[in-house]
Amino acid sequence: MLSYRHSFHAGNHGDVLKHISQMLLIDKLKSKNKGFCYIDTHSGAGIYQLDSDEALKTKEFQQGIDCLVGKSTQNQTVSDYLSLVSSYRKFMQYPGSPEIAKSMLRPQDKLVLIELHNQEIQNLRSNMGGKNIAIHHRDGYEGLLALTPPEMQRGIVLIDPSYEVASEYQQVVDTVISAYKKWNSAIYAIWYPLIADRAAADPSFSSSNSKQGKSESMLEGLQQHPFKNLLKVELRVTKGEQAAGMYGSGMAIINAPWQFDHRVQEALVELTPLMAQNDSASFSVDWLIAE
Ligand code: SAM
Repeated sequence: MLSYRHSFHAGNHGDVLKHISQMLLIDKLKSKNKGFCYIDTHSGAGIYQLDSDEALKTKEFQQGIDCLVGKSTQNQTVSDYLSLVSSYRKFMQYPGSPEIAKSMLRPQDKLVLIELHNQEIQNLRSNMGGKNIAIHHRDGYEGLLALTPPEMQRGIVLIDPSYEVASEYQQVVDTVISAYKKWNSAIYAIWYPLIADRAAADPSFSSSNSKQGKSESMLEGLQQHPFKNLLKVELRVTKGEQAAGMYGSGMAIINAPWQFDHRVQEALVELTPLMAQNDSASFSVDWLIAE
C-alpha cells in the first residue's frame, strides 16, 4: 500500500537540491545536438499546488523554495532554476521533476514517466502529456529494467523514491546495478534523504523503525560496484544532531558528466547560505568512484 504523497513535501529543500541537479544534468546532455531519453522512475504528479491542504499542513516549501524566491543570485544554475520555479510560484504552484524535464525538452528528446500510485498517475496524466512523452502506470524499478536500453543511447534516469519501506534502499542499489548492465552510457541520478538520529537526541525515542543510516548504507552498496564514476552531492540545511527528521539530502550520480562537479559546487556555494536554517548548514561534493 502506497501512502506517501509528494504534495505534502513539494518545493522543500530536498526538491531544491534534486531539481537544481536535474536541470544541470539535462543542460549537460543538451550541449550536444543528438537527442536523449529522460526516464523518471518515480514521477509523482508533475505539478503541485502550494495552497493545497497537504502543502499547507506541513508548509515545507517555506523552508525550501521560499528561501530563494525574490533573492538575487550571481550563479547561472541557481538563477535558471529560480526563474523557472518563480513562474509557477506566483500561481501558488511548484513544478515537479517531470514538468521541469518537459520544460527543457527539445523536439529530438524523449520523456518516459513512471508512477505507481493510482491517484498520482491520474494527476500526472492530467498535468503532463504531449509529443515525445510516454506515461506508464507501473512499478518504477520493474519499469526501468523493462524499458532499458531505450533506442537512444544518451540519457538520464532520475530515481526519486519515497523510501516508504527500509528495504527500498537496497532495491535502489540492485535495480541500478541491473540497469547499468543493460545501459551503461546513461546518467543515473538517485535522490536520498539525510535523516537525523532521533534516538541520540531523545533516548525515549524507539529507533527500531528508523531509516537513519540507510542512505549511507545505500551509498556504500553503490560504491562496491565498478561504475565508471560515482559522485555524491549533499546539502545539509542544519546539523544532524540539531534536527528531528530530515536535515538534508543528497544526490548519488553515476556517469556524472564532465565538469558537473564544478558546476554543482559553484551553485551550492550560493545556495547553501540561502537555504540555511542556522549556521550549521553545509554542503559537500565528493567522488566516491573517480574515473
Ligand atoms: N520525482 C518527483 C518530483 O521530483 O517531482 C517526486 C516523486 S515522490 C518523492 C515519489 C513518488 O514515487 C510518489 O509519487 C509515489 O507515489 C511514487 N512511488 C512509490 N513507489 C513507487 C514505485 N515502486 N514505482 C513507481 N512509483 C512509486
